[in-house]
Formats: sequence, C-alpha cells, structure tokens
Amino acid sequence: MKFETQKLHKEILENLQTLGYEEMTPIQEMSLPIILNGDDLIGQAKTGSGKTAAFGLGVLNKLDINMAEHQALILCPTRELAEQVAVELRRLARFTSNIKILTITGGTNEAHQLKSLSYGAHIIVGTPGRIFKFLKEDKLVLNKLNSFVLDEADRMLDMGFYDSIEKIESYLPQERQTLLFSATFPYSIQDLSKNLQEHPEFVKVDTNHEENEIEQYFYKVDGHKEKGKYLIDILAKYQPESSIIFCKTKIICDSVAKSLVKEGVYALALHGDHDQKDRTLTLTKFANGSCPVLVATDVAARGLDIKDLSMVINLDLSPDPEVYVHRIGRTGRIGKKGLAVSLYIDQENFKLDDIREYLSKELDLKELSSLEKEAPFQFKPKMKTLFISGGKKDKLRPGDIVGAIVGTSGIEDKLIGDINVLNVLSYVAIDTSVADKVLMGLQAGKIKKRNFRIGFA
Ligand code: ADP
Ligand code: MG
Repeated sequence: MKFETQKLHKEILENLQTLGYEEMTPIQEMSLPIILNGDDLIGQAKTGSGKTAAFGLGVLNKLDINMAEHQALILCPTRELAEQVAVELRRLARFTSNIKILTITGGTNEAHQLKSLSYGAHIIVGTPGRIFKFLKEDKLVLNKLNSFVLDEADRMLDMGFYDSIEKIESYLPQERQTLLFSATFPYSIQDLSKNLQEHPEFVKVDTNHEENEIEQYFYKVDGHKEKGKYLIDILAKYQPESSIIFCKTKIICDSVAKSLVKEGVYALALHGDHDQKDRTLTLTKFANGSCPVLVATDVAARGLDIKDLSMVINLDLSPDPEVYVHRIGRTGRIGKKGLAVSLYIDQENFKLDDIREYLSKELDLKELSSLEKEAPFQFKPKMKTLFISGGKKDKLRPGDIVGAIVGTSGIEDKLIGDINVLNVLSYVAIDTSVADKVLMGLQAGKIKKRNFRIGFA
C-alpha cells in the first residue's frame, strides 16, 4: 500500500517520494492508521522492518513547529540507536528545515547537551539514564510533551532500564500518546505497557514469510571449544562480503575476534565494555567496508541498522528461538536474500527443536566434512578507513574532503567510499588499492587551506 493512503501532510508525502519510500512496509501499513489517529500502540516487528518511520511519521505529522517546547520524547536503549533514530527522523523531516531534533544520551558531554537544549528542540531522542538524570535535576522539562515513544523496549528492559523508564514517565503529562515498539513480547513488556499506556492497540507483523528468504544451515561440532576452528572454514566456504558473528559473552567476542585476526581475517569485536569512541569507529569501519567481520553480543548489536549483511553466524545459539529469528533477520533485509549459519553441540539439540517449532519447518543440518577447504583463503577488506583530526566544529564537509583527496592524490572519486564527519573528527573510507597514496597526498597537502592530522584509523 502506498503512503498516500495515510492522512499525512502533503510536504511529508512529497519528501517520502524523494526518499524513494514508495510502498509502506507491513509494520508501517498496520500501525500508521492507529498512530495517526492518536491512539496508543504496541508494535511487534523484527529489526529492519521500518519501525522508525512508523513512529517517526506519526510524531512529525502532529508536530507544531511554532511551539518551542519539547513535543516528543523517543527513548532508545543505546547511544548508537538514538543517533540512528535521529538520523532517520531528520531524513523524514527534510521537508522543513525548522524541525529541531536533539539526541541526549549517556557517554557524551553533559554541558554540550545542555547548551544544545537551550537552543530548543521539538523532538528529543535519548537513552533512559541520561534523560532521567536531566529530568531529576530540572535541566529538562517535558510538561508540554504529547508523544512518548519507546523503541526496542525489550532491549531497554534487558539492560535494566525498567525503573528509569517508569520514573521518566512520572515527569510527562498524562494526556499524551504512548507508542511502544519491541521485537519480542515477554511478560515484562506487558507489565510496562500497563503502566505507561491507555488501551493500546496491538499490532504484530508475522515474520515467518521473510525467514524463508534466508538460507539457514546448522553444523554440529563436538564441543564449544571446537567452534573457533570451524569458523574460518565457514567463512572460507561462504565468503561473505560482510558478516556478524554472534557470541554469548563479551569475553568470547574478544577472543574470537583476536583469533580471526591471527588467521588473517580482519575482524572487530563490538560490545558494551568499549568506550564510545571505539564503538563508533568499529561501526563506521563495518559499515564502510573496512572491516568485513563484526563479532558481537546480542545487546551490542541489537537494533543497529546495518545494511546489506551477507551472512549471520551464530557461534553460540541463544536458548530463545525469538532471538535466533531476530539475529538472522539482519541478513536479507528488505527483499535481499540472506544466509545464516549456526554452530551447536549435541546437548543443544533442544534449542534446534525450539527453532524448528518456532519456524514450523525442518532445519537444514549440514556435515562438517562439507566444509573442507577448497581454495586458498583470502579475506581482505575492500576499503581502508582514514581519520582526519577535524569535523563539524571545523566546518568540514564531505565535499571538502573529496576535493582535498582528488586534488592531492589525483585518484578517481569513485575510489572514495563513505565519509563520516563527526564533531571534531572525520572518517573516510578509501579503496585499499589507493589508500597509501591518498594518505601521503593528504599528509603533504591541506584541506580547506588548513593542516589536519591524518592517519589510518
Ligand atoms: P527497524 O527500526 O524496524 O529495525 P528501521 O526503521 O531502522 O527498522 O528501517 C530499516 C531500513 O529501512 C532503514 O534504512 C530505512 O531507511 C528503510 N525503510 C523504512 N521504511 C521504508 C520504506 N517504506 N521503503 C523503503 N525503505 C524503508
Ligand atoms: Mg529500530
């Protein structure tokens, strides 16, 4: 169904067209009529199904730009997710340059955030800890709010945010719309909903159909210790351009990433123990093609909009089949065919039974002997990431960086990949074949007539 069937403002519809959003995704189709009607809603759908636009369009459509007060609060589990939601909202809000969207999250400078707050914000996207702190200290006033959104609510509860969310709610007007999105629907979510929402409508998108678009293979190994050994063989056989390996714990993530690197596979671990700067760099490298393999826990990877993932590997299977479906849903997103490979040991046969039952289909069990190495194994990233010690604060724009690269090294601009300009730092992906040349060129030259520190990130 097309977006035109919804009661959205004309400018919003025009913008959706320029974004190339033609048809609504299933969750958007089911939830938008309810959201635009002003009702409370619980939406259950997997990652990548387009939930951000579902609530984002609802929030934007009822925004009063002439009113300076904060009108919407969107809570997300992590800073990355909050940033991602803010980016998507800004895209959806392009039809007017006056809509102010601000992120308030932990791990970032408070004074900065307070200063940005003082300039006003129609929509606030944040993490529960920092939002609650600001409310408690009277640094944030949300008494004119009319939209309250909880994104990835199950993950927020897993991270222990139940109390913060309840307390945040006590600062909000009773008269408001509350939207709750969650991939899974455990009892704790029902409980949360009861406390925050009024007569919510419940919509759930059946994901079974899409799972059939993902090829899923299961390999039995003798013991957990054997898994690492076969990981390389799996990567060699399927040669995914990009993949996420899911592990049970942070410690396993680190050791798997380390042993892959030893084998010549450039892999990075992503988990909550790393500081914010490292996490941003890891995700940037993964997204721009400089790092083909990410090793992550569920918590770290949850909800991140990582596109074009060719493969998901479950080094450890979760005991919860919903988590399995959620993980593999990251490959083959919006119409692309995906691939998921899982390792298990004999004692985990019950987990396979649960998955079988959940998917209501037979699983494809493979023999380890079919993993025999065929060709010499090469796993070099396509791109390399450079850092530049300047960013938005220095008024650097992607165009300035492209100009400086082409000007100093004479390479074709199609060898330049993603450019991320952050506050005081920028990252640029360069085709590996010319990365050294670009580095030398930039180090010798200038960007916008200024000298910056430049190196491989
Ligand atoms: P979720 O929050 O459900 O995990 P997202 O909101 O992050 O999913 O959406 C996943 C991707 O799909 C995003 O890159 C978004 O831009 C894109 N997208 C969302 N809705 C549409 C649509 N109607 N048509 C095309 N692309 C869409
Ligand atoms: Mg999301």
